[in-house]
Amino acid sequence: MKTIGITGIIGSGKTTICHVFEHLGIPVYYSDEEAKKAYNNPLVLQKVLRTFGTMVTDEAGHLDKAQIAAMVFSDKKKLQQLNDIIHPFVAEDFKRWKKKQDSPYILFESAIVFECGFEHWFDDMIVVSTPESESVERVKCRSGISEVEIKRRLDNQQIIRNNIPKVRFIIDNAENSMVLPQILTIHEMIINND
Ligand code: ATP
Repeated sequence: MKTIGITGIIGSGKTTICHVFEHLGIPVYYSDEEAKKAYNNPLVLQKVLRTFGTMVTDEAGHLDKAQIAAMVFSDKKKLQQLNDIIHPFVAEDFKRWKKKQDSPYILFESAIVFECGFEHWFDDMIVVSTPESESVERVKCRSGISEVEIKRRLDNQQIIRNNIPKVRFIIDNAENSMVLPQILTIHEMIINND
């Protein structure tokens, strides 16, 4: 069973496109969502609290995810430390999940494939490509995050654009593009080993 990574900048349409693959019967592992659940694991929680202490807790001593986000945004070393705790959990969870799947291939959705060097896990990669201005508009409509904040996040995701030449499958998800035929072509190519 092949594992295909799928990534793209914030608001590019990764999740929307993954839903189409799911309609084609392809299981999708939403790693960013699963990573958020890592804090429910007592061992992960313990490691996070031991490593960062009061930097990530509120006044009552409970984990404060907003503080974690603020901490890692301003400090790359701390981001690496946090990733070193969370990623092994996600990797194990993914392995368990994969064993339960029965399909010619599966998708692993993540916004941070290249930052984390995950691309080596995959038989192939898909990048969902959308003009930055459209992504910004979509995220603004969806979540009400400010344009400044969205652009700040996009700046952190330039690595995706830099890696596009290395990626086999690009889905153009600009507003006026025909996305379904692209998905079907990629699906057929993966299934037929083209
Ligand atoms: P994030 O990384 O922030 O989770 P994402 O890459 O998974 O984002 P989606 O959540 O799939 O992106 O899409 C972002 C928004 O854009 C959603 O509201 C979705 O409905 C919309 N959207 C996705 N594709 C298109 C498209 N081709 N045309 C217009 N809107 C779209």
